[in-house]
Amino acid sequence: METNNHYDAIVIGAGPAGLSAGIYLSRARVKTLILSEGTVGGQMILTHEIANYPGVESISGYQLSMIMRNQAKKFGCDIKSNILVETFNLDKDLKEIVLADGTKYTADAVILSPGGRSRTLGMPGEDALKGKGISYCATCDGDFFTDKKIIVVGGGNSALEEAVSLTKYASKVTIVHQFDHFQAFEYAIEEARNHPKISLHMESSITAFHGNEKLEGVEITDLKSGLKQNHPIDGVFIFIGYVPNTEFLEGKVELSEWKEIIVDADMQTSIKGIFAAGDSITKKYRQVTTAVADGTIAALAASKYIHELHQNKQLQHTR
Ligand SMILES: Cc1cc2nc3c(=O)[nH]c(=O)nc-3n(C[C@H](O)[C@H](O)[C@H](O)COP(=O)(O)OP(=O)(O)OC[C@H]3O[C@@H](n4cnc5c(N)ncnc54)[C@H](O)[C@@H]3O)c2cc1C
Repeated sequence: METNNHYDAIVIGAGPAGLSAGIYLSRARVKTLILSEGTVGGQMILTHEIANYPGVESISGYQLSMIMRNQAKKFGCDIKSNILVETFNLDKDLKEIVLADGTKYTADAVILSPGGRSRTLGMPGEDALKGKGISYCATCDGDFFTDKKIIVVGGGNSALEEAVSLTKYASKVTIVHQFDHFQAFEYAIEEARNHPKISLHMESSITAFHGNEKLEGVEITDLKSGLKQNHPIDGVFIFIGYVPNTEFLEGKVELSEWKEIIVDADMQTSIKGIFAAGDSITKKYRQVTTAVADGTIAALAASKYIHELHQNKQLQHTR
């Protein structure tokens, strides 16, 4: 039964993928609701400056989030942030979503765009200094560390490749890694080892971040001796893995071994009428532009799906 809480499409997550989907759906007069557990903007609000979004030379992540939100709202999209999704049923034609406060919504199609998060070290000071000297994205923030001394944490391919790419900006890059060997391809290890700007700090770990308004230094613990030493530093890039926010989707839609949502070229998941977009899907490059592109595709495919569903219902009605 269709209630006031029925929408043509519900989008889960209000990052750039979800907001783009909201803009396209609402502009196509598809009645749309975006539900987001976090603040509108998703990971964008964690970055103080976005300098690689085409057409906008430089903008704060917060400002870009507000522009996208206002654009979606202008086209009639409803947005509810800081909500908690309690349960949902995606299998039937009419999808059901129930919030922790008991509010129930139904929709013909759902777009999942819950994004993800970089794996953190979980050390004191890390949360407070995120975006203030601690970064998880070299493409996004490397330029801010031109001629500065930085640390890269990690020992996999991403860490080593990003360390090399950061030498374009930084005057010195120190790789801090917990083991005595790297878990990366030989070419990546060789390139990092032989780079004149890169030095290695093996069998060590950052155990605290220091600074008030911005990062000023780190405590590094030698994992063999237990010796702790403070080092002044301008920036720390952490590449120790990525976690998609898909825990709530386990057993509901098909996920990869890395817990990313599996989609086809139309962003369609394993369930009819359920689409997915952004950082939470299986893909290699995670940026605002790629999230926006995924959200667009998911919205166009969902619009087509909803249109056909409505046409079929009408046909059945007239028979
Ligand atoms: C520090 C930092 C700096 C960055 N800088 C740049 C940059 O300069 N340029 C660039 O292009 N990219 C940058 N990125 C990457 C970019 O922010 C992401 O690729 C992009 O935000 C992904 O968009 P998304 O919509 O897929 O997910 P997200 O932005 O992660 O948004 C997902 C949203 O879904 C919500 N959500 C999660 N789970 C649920 C749930 N169960 N129910 C409801 N809602 C849920 C979250 O709260 C969040 O609001 C940066 C990332 C970080 C962390």
